[in-house]
Amino acid sequence: MLESLIAIFAPHHCLACGGEGSLLCGECRDSLPPHPEICYRCHRLSPGARTCPACRRHTPLRGVRIATVYEGVTVEVVKALKFGRARAGAGPLGRLIAEQHRTLGFDLIVPVPSASSRQRQRGYNPAELIAGAVSDRLGVSVLTALGRTGQSRQVGARRRERIEQLAGAFYVRPPREIEGRSILLVDDVLTTGATLTECAKVLRTAGARSVEGAVVARNNN
Ligand SMILES: [Zn+2]
Ligand SMILES: [Zn+2]
Repeated sequence: MLESLIAIFAPHHCLACGGEGSLLCGECRDSLPPHPEICYRCHRLSPGARTCPACRRHTPLRGVRIATVYEGVTVEVVKALKFGRARAGAGPLGRLIAEQHRTLGFDLIVPVPSASSRQRQRGYNPAELIAGAVSDRLGVSVLTALGRTGQSRQVGARRRERIEQLAGAFYVRPPREIEGRSILLVDDVLTTGATLTECAKVLRTAGARSVEGAVVARNNN
């Protein structure tokens, strides 16, 4: 509501070139640097962004495709998405992810649920909005199949602590719809990968045939 009012009075401009119509125009989106294909867990180069053989026994995620590098205009659009200009930011970021998955087959797109306290403050889940934009492009349905049980706080926690906090933090809502499906798990920004790993675990436990991750960028700070 507020966002549509803002859009009436201040049309969106590309945050990179200033062109009118979108927070990130198609031309600027196409010129973003592609992220190297790495194993999301150990960060070694890995063709097709597959989980490397050494990491495979620690995670059920087949791989995580990272669309671009977390710098410049990408950071600006992600911030816009998180702080107020939700739909205007989600569209171009979803299209960015969709470009990388166009030729791959998935049955369902599942967004990572945001930590509930933060989502309540915002009133929306950025990952869900991006998943919606990916869905529009790929013609694959979104199922908000994942919920959070607790309110685990990740800020400042080290990798091991984060993983311990996250264990048991997620659950699958309608497990019947997950069974036998190949799933594209969508989030905005990848940090440690602990959240994606835990989400993949519960989806596989619920019977998903395979789970692959897709994120806009990786923030290694
Ligand atoms: Zn532009
Ligand atoms: Zn690895």
